Amino acid sequence: MHPNCSKCNSRCCQYYCFQIDAPESYDDYENIRWYLCHEGTSVHIDHDDDWCILIENRCKMLEQTPEGERCRIYDNRPLVCRRFSPHTCEIALGGHDFKQLFETPEQIEAYARQALGEEEFLRARAEGRARAQSDCDNPHAQEPEIRGEIEIEEA
Ligand code: SF4
Ligand code: SF4
Repeated sequence: MHPNCSKCNSRCCQYYCFQIDAPESYDDYENIRWYLCHEGTSVHIDHDDDWCILIENRCKMLEQTPEGERCRIYDNRPLVCRRFSPHTCEIALGGHDFKQLFETPEQIEAYARQALGEEEFLRARAEGRARAQSDCDNPHAQEPEIRGEIEIEEA
């Protein structure tokens, strides 16, 4: 085991993180705002300008042993775990180092206002809310299309 790993109690097994599309529209920012309404969720922009979502969620394969938290499927662990390097992980680097970190819905909303411009932000928000209300008021508007994808066996 790498010396860093023996010290950190498997931090990398206690969250998962993946790249998401960079937001371009008001709706995209609203999706991110929704993510950030959830506990243990953050979004960041890394140094390659990639947008990523990080969800604090302990891996079910971790188990407590006398030596600390250990993977109970280590020999059969997924490739993503095999590729994770103790030379470049957050512990080795002394913590996450992001270009920008969003931890609250308010932070991404403020960013969206700046990125889109206040006028476009307000226009898109009003338009998006009206569209959402209309969809909500007409829940069967898309029913034929949805139903077309499901084969219903007659009794
Ligand atoms: S790879 Fe990094 S985060 Fe994972 S156990 Fe080793 S030192 Fe800890
Ligand atoms: S499968 Fe094992 S190595 Fe991978 S995240 Fe879970 S506990 Fe960690």
